Amino acid sequence: MRLLADHHPLVSLDVVRAWLAGECDVPERAIAVTFDDGLRGVYDHAFPWLERYNIPATVFVVEDFSVKGRAWNGEPALSCDQIAVMARSGMLIGSHGRPHVSLSSADLGDDALAAETAGSKSGLERLLSMRIRYFAYPYTGRKGTSMRGSSPLSKMPAIVWL
Ligand SMILES: [Zn+2]
Repeated sequence: MRLLADHHPLVSLDVVRAWLAGECDVPERAIAVTFDDGLRGVYDHAFPWLERYNIPATVFVVEDFSVKGRAWNGEPALSCDQIAVMARSGMLIGSHGRPHVSLSSADLGDDALAAETAGSKSGLERLLSMRIRYFAYPYTGRKGTSMRGSSPLSKMPAIVWL
């Protein structure tokens, strides 16, 4: 993390969003640090260094992983308390879906698509008592970069703000 901070301007997704809207400039070689899946390792290993070097970051959590205490590939998910601690320190919290399904799947019905996107946003907002403004597509990069159908998010990039 220190090497990253020493060699790149580090900006938050809020700054990236403002830059894309033409509201500010971003230095060349700038990086926005993000973590998908909301796994415990973010809290245990990355968070202390992010705080130490004052690195802005966003963690995208999966609602069901944290609410139900699920593991992903053998690693436990962040607890809601851990998410709250990181949010209070200034980390941005985004949604990475509810059960973490591919949004480009032809088998995904409209109700499941709504649950994964808007549902996970509102669920996390209720759970964490904070506004969720970012969403990262589950499985982006493995199964395509856009969702199927005519969803308003279907033409958006891998990370969107809501
Ligand atoms: Zn994921």
